[in-house]
Amino acid sequence: MSDKNSPVVTDLVKGGFPYLEQKILECKNCALHETVTNKVISKGSENPKVVFIGEAPGKNEDETGIPFCGRAGKLLDKFIDYMELKDGEWAVINTLKCRPPANRTPTKKEIEICRPFLTTQIELMKPTIIILLGNTAEKAYGETLEWGESKIDENGTHIVKIFHPAALIYQRSREAEQYGYLDKYRYLWNE
Ligand code: SF4
Repeated sequence: MSDKNSPVVTDLVKGGFPYLEQKILECKNCALHETVTNKVISKGSENPKVVFIGEAPGKNEDETGIPFCGRAGKLLDKFIDYMELKDGEWAVINTLKCRPPANRTPTKKEIEICRPFLTTQIELMKPTIIILLGNTAEKAYGETLEWGESKIDENGTHIVKIFHPAALIYQRSREAEQYGYLDKYRYLWNE
């Protein structure tokens, strides 16, 4: 990610996960902190092979502080099972750590302001595969991909873009397409 060598990210990486978590919990850098109930940081391993990047916390996540714990989360769990990933091999994080009111799409500015936390999570987790769940994750990560496309970024990390599970709740017909993408790239995480 383009800001990985910035002073802010360097400082956060140096402090490790506990320091990062403290800084996220304290953060008032954008207006979303005014309406947040719980900040949502991550779920899964701290040393995963695969990191899924979602969009932003929704209502259930805001209430619990746990990423992907509602209907979309159940669908993501199905994908993780289908990928045959074991516990310890995956993590889920979001582009923003605070819920945008009424689940609106994060703005470009909010993504930019919150990006150092996302970059630091990736720098600390060091995954070999990053799965971008939808367009907001793609924008935050700074890569341009088609649906189901993959590329290798400057760090040698495989990046894959698939549909966000929440989008599939309303477009069940596209679920088969999603499983097709997971089959296509299965060799990356099952090798
Ligand atoms: S969304 Fe990110 S930048 Fe905005 S207040 Fe929450 S943690 Fe801070």
